[in-house]
Amino acid sequence: MHTRIEGRASAARTGLGRLQRRVRAAVGAAAAACAVLVASPAAAFTVFACEPEWAVLVRALLPQARVHVATTAQQDPHHIEARPALIAQLRSADLAACTGASLEAGWLPTLQQRAGNSRVQDGAPGMFYAADHVVLIDVPQRGTALASPFAGDVHAEGNPHLHADPRRLLEAARALAAQLQALQPAQAGAVGERLVRLESRLQARIADWERRAAPLRGRTVAVQHASLAYLWRWLGLVPVADLEPVPGMAPTPGHLQRVLQTLRATPPMAIVVTRHQDPRPGRWLAAQLGAGVPFLVVPATVPDDSAPDAIEDWFEQLVQALLKAAGV
Ligand SMILES: [Zn+2]
Repeated sequence: MHTRIEGRASAARTGLGRLQRRVRAAVGAAAAACAVLVASPAAAFTVFACEPEWAVLVRALLPQARVHVATTAQQDPHHIEARPALIAQLRSADLAACTGASLEAGWLPTLQQRAGNSRVQDGAPGMFYAADHVVLIDVPQRGTALASPFAGDVHAEGNPHLHADPRRLLEAARALAAQLQALQPAQAGAVGERLVRLESRLQARIADWERRAAPLRGRTVAVQHASLAYLWRWLGLVPVADLEPVPGMAPTPGHLQRVLQTLRATPPMAIVVTRHQDPRPGRWLAAQLGAGVPFLVVPATVPDDSAPDAIEDWFEQLVQALLKAAGV
């Protein structure tokens, strides 16, 4: 900011001087805003993020993007209503960043169809699915879809909740950066630099989390849905029971009784459900098992997508909650 030093004291003594300075400041601000618009063709680049984690990555890679986020950590990303507001947001999007592997199969196709935006249809350069760039776990074999207790009808292409592994999240970030660079060539250099910074920042934290979470390896958890299956695998925790009788189905009394018998025989380190799920079945189970088994309710994704360190904050929260439950 350049200020005119000469005459400043005398001008400040009069109302006219204040008015002149205000006008000069307003003109200067308007000129600066115009300069930003001219210098930055990405200013109006609009992104529709299906889940908050992709909004965080887009903001880290292209901070000037206008980002709409379709869901929050309070919502179940499998089941979202295709509201008119979401249709309007997708209609204006240059890029849609979603998880894929059919996580959004219940609502995104409807939005895509109603929005009528050719830039974000499947296969278009503006449609990004993280699952297309990452190796998924629990991919059912053809004809043996229920071979694993954590694979089922809602995850026919493998578990889509890949963001709960920070290493896979980084792989997705690299692919997202490449797609942003292709769509915004003038920003390619800056996006690449931001990706390098994101990688080094996150890799340092991943090493720290892995070191601190080492005592959790081999410990067991009872879960509700496979929302955090990638987290368990990354940290070496073992899910031994699922409160859902089959993936995607709410816990039933009969199934909970069977789970209770299993867990009474071999108590888990903790019962862990995510914030968008009904906590009552897990709470009931924990009460039956007694004080030795903590009941954790954790967010299944970043709770605040506008926080600059949203990803780090979320994993830190998860690691701390698990270490506390383990008593280490
Ligand atoms: Zn799921």
